[in-house]
Amino acid sequence: MTLPSRPSVSSATPATGGDGRRFDLFVIGGGINGCGIARDAAGRGLSVMLVEQGDIASATSQWSTKLIHGGLRYLEYYEFRLVGEALREREILLKAAPHLIEPLQFVLPHEPHLRPRWMIRAGLFLYDFLGGRSSLPASKSLNLSGSPLAAGLKPRYTHGFSYYDARVDDARLTLANARGAADLGALIAPHTRFIAAAPDGGEWSIKVEDLAAGGIREVRAKALVNAAGPWVMQALGRIEGAGESAKVKHVKGSHIVVPRLHPGEHAYLLQNPDNRIIFIIPYLDAFSLIGTTDIPVAEFESPRISDDEIDYLCEMASSYSARPLTARDVVWTYSGVRPLYDDGASAAAEVTRDYVLKDVVIDGAPLLSIFGGKLTTYRRLAEHALDRLQAHLPPMGAAWTHASPLPGGDFTDGLSAFVAGLKRVHGYLPHDHLVAIARRHGSLAHGWLAGCTGIDAMGEHFGAGLYAREVEYVVANEWARHADDILFRRSKCGLMMSAAERERVANYVEAITR
Ligand code: FAD
Repeated sequence: MTLPSRPSVSSATPATGGDGRRFDLFVIGGGINGCGIARDAAGRGLSVMLVEQGDIASATSQWSTKLIHGGLRYLEYYEFRLVGEALREREILLKAAPHLIEPLQFVLPHEPHLRPRWMIRAGLFLYDFLGGRSSLPASKSLNLSGSPLAAGLKPRYTHGFSYYDARVDDARLTLANARGAADLGALIAPHTRFIAAAPDGGEWSIKVEDLAAGGIREVRAKALVNAAGPWVMQALGRIEGAGESAKVKHVKGSHIVVPRLHPGEHAYLLQNPDNRIIFIIPYLDAFSLIGTTDIPVAEFESPRISDDEIDYLCEMASSYSARPLTARDVVWTYSGVRPLYDDGASAAAEVTRDYVLKDVVIDGAPLLSIFGGKLTTYRRLAEHALDRLQAHLPPMGAAWTHASPLPGGDFTDGLSAFVAGLKRVHGYLPHDHLVAIARRHGSLAHGWLAGCTGIDAMGEHFGAGLYAREVEYVVANEWARHADDILFRRSKCGLMMSAAERERVANYVEAITR
């Protein structure tokens, strides 16, 4: 099918609002699932409105372990459907967003008393097999004695295994979907809360509150998607006639960020005596990301790491790491809440990570709610969601996202070659700044860097490679409104900046958004 043409990258972000308008599809939630569905639907020719009560990707979709992976450990819970689908998606997404998603080698140091060698080898064979034809290297056994792949580990680890998955910038993957949806005509409305919906004449009458400008607006839609993540039951409670038959288990997962624990670009997967696993992943050159925990919680609105979780992660990492870790080493933490479909499993680690779609027609108006899921499977989830709603929507185009790059992802020779090309034109920028810009924006960087012939044209350098020109671009094109949206979501520059530098960004953003 022919997709609607994409406007130039400098086009202004569509305004929020939509008062009185009628859409084919209304989506609640600007996380990965809502944005993925909005992009897919808009590309099939549907008119779409998406509301997000905060910033795009301001909830679970920015607090993940940042992996596009099959989930090796889910094999122990016989989640073969989920692992197989996730591994196929890994291959598709590596091609669709080579700037945001990169292959990552995992090293699993062997602890014989936890799982025997044959069991791990068999699990890795199955993982390779379920992945089908993959561009990533197959798994293998490793002799770790003196190997750089054991760097930073205690010397007692002499044997291990290697396999590949991929890492992702989770918040930017979500933003790329929102941007792609908007480019295809969807109305993306951050800082807009879904208040209520009622069936009316076979479609939905919907109330939303504009949290930035104030005021309640009404729109109509033929179909309603509830992609509110941890808030899925709250959203259901606001939909007339929806009932609350499904159950959600809220499970908190926390991460710590510490100064880099090991050299090299590989990550470690560590088995723990409690049968859980944690990852140590190289993060932003200078850091290591360590996570995650799995703790059922009742309060899910603003999750915070507890002292016990910090101690747990430090202790587990220290049992493998040559350099012991304590809470004093922690430079940043974050926590997210998995909105898992409650399948009755007693342990949090065992609750299915698979997604569940529940659809119902209320007085002729169709509603689809999403429970659980992973970043990795969002694209396929969106296809399934549109399949379920198809009968209630106007004729639409065929599935298309499997063969279409995300905004910024339309280059094929790999990130290094892309950076080299960017450097030929913008060699006045320091190499590490160019790499970071390429990772954030991919080919869209050509657009907002166009016309720059020297460093002066980039405007003020706030620190950590963030220039005024990029700040202006993300305010105009990526719905950024506050300094933290830019410092910790659209980039992670805030982690490398001083308080004074962050303050300068805040002042600048305030001045240009006033
Ligand atoms: P969210 O991102 O939470 O989006 C829902 C949005 O709805 C929110 O932004 C919220 O503000 C909005 N909303 C709610 N109510 C309203 C309303 N009334 N009006 C308007 N907006 C509303 N997956 C992987 O594939 N790889 C990983 O490495 C990985 N690691 C993870 C680690 C942790 C600790 C956690 C918690 C999850 C991890 N996941 C991972 C899973 C993945 O992050 C989630 O499945 C995914 O982000 C869920 O996306 P979502 O769109 O459903 O929810």
